[in-house]
Amino acid sequence: MAAKILDGKVLSAEIREEVRKRVEKMKACGVTPGLAVILVGDDPASEIYVRNKGKGCEETGMLSRTIRMESSTTQEQLEAAIQQLNEDPAIHGILVQLPLPGHLDENAALAKILPEKDVDGFHLVNAGHLMTGTEGVLPCTPKGALYMIKSTGETLSGREAVVIGRSNIVGKPMAMLLLQENCTVTVCHSRTKDLAEHTRRADILVAAVGKAGFVTADMVKPGAIVIDVGINRVDGKVCGDVDFEKVREKAGWITPVPGGVGKMTIAMLLSNTADAAERTLER
Ligand code: NDP
Repeated sequence: MAAKILDGKVLSAEIREEVRKRVEKMKACGVTPGLAVILVGDDPASEIYVRNKGKGCEETGMLSRTIRMESSTTQEQLEAAIQQLNEDPAIHGILVQLPLPGHLDENAALAKILPEKDVDGFHLVNAGHLMTGTEGVLPCTPKGALYMIKSTGETLSGREAVVIGRSNIVGKPMAMLLLQENCTVTVCHSRTKDLAEHTRRADILVAAVGKAGFVTADMVKPGAIVIDVGINRVDGKVCGDVDFEKVREKAGWITPVPGGVGKMTIAMLLSNTADAAERTLER
């Protein structure tokens, strides 16, 4: 039987609607949540992401501000722009669109964002909160992926979870979140031997590799929840890391690309921004 589709459009609409209601309440108390995105250079993919983030803010009633900087921007100029936003009470969330041009130090820039305004959840303080299971800002993509996994209604505790990819923005935080759900977690990467032997054990399989069609049906356990984080372009078409058509015949649940995790990432960014604004209201 073909897998059930975990529809990012439907699930992200749920989150956006919830955010919209929270924004409405905050506005009634005189606070409009504000998200600022810093875009350095003119990478076309980044332009699209930034535009979608702005659209999301508009739809949920938030303030959106895009700070465009030349690709020749220096580290000092970038950090000064971040500092200005740190001090701006109208801005509750700050996001530096990655990747930055090669001459800029991403980690140093991200470290300048106030942890409470770090709605991407990339600051070391927030990474530390995730590691220790204490309250912090969760990175949007793994947070969105977990929401999709939970939407299946399946018990997660005690299940085998395999994450392919160990990046700081997807693979590692995803593994930590699944560990917090009491899954037994295996993290695979480019040096993993016998990858398929690991993936075939997975009740929950998350692919965050960046290679089109990388996960094939023979790598998937029948009935598994398969989450495809990958965004790849092949002949101008967007596709994920999973061979969708074949794997859907074997998995229990699967996310499509496009229309899957990507939609959740933006919804979680809006949700994190609403959280940040609520925290200022509480203060
Ligand atoms: P990275 O390139 O930082 O990480 C890729 C990971 O895949 C690395 O850990 C790498 O291992 C591993 N890998 C590469 N080749 C193999 C292999 N042959 N076998 C096993 N593991 C392998 O990518 P990101 O984590 O940033 O992103 C992953 C994908 O997710 C990309 O397609 C990206 O576009 C997409 N993405 C999607 C988002 C969304 O909203 N849907 C958000 C962010 C990313 P090693 O560490 O050993 O090199």
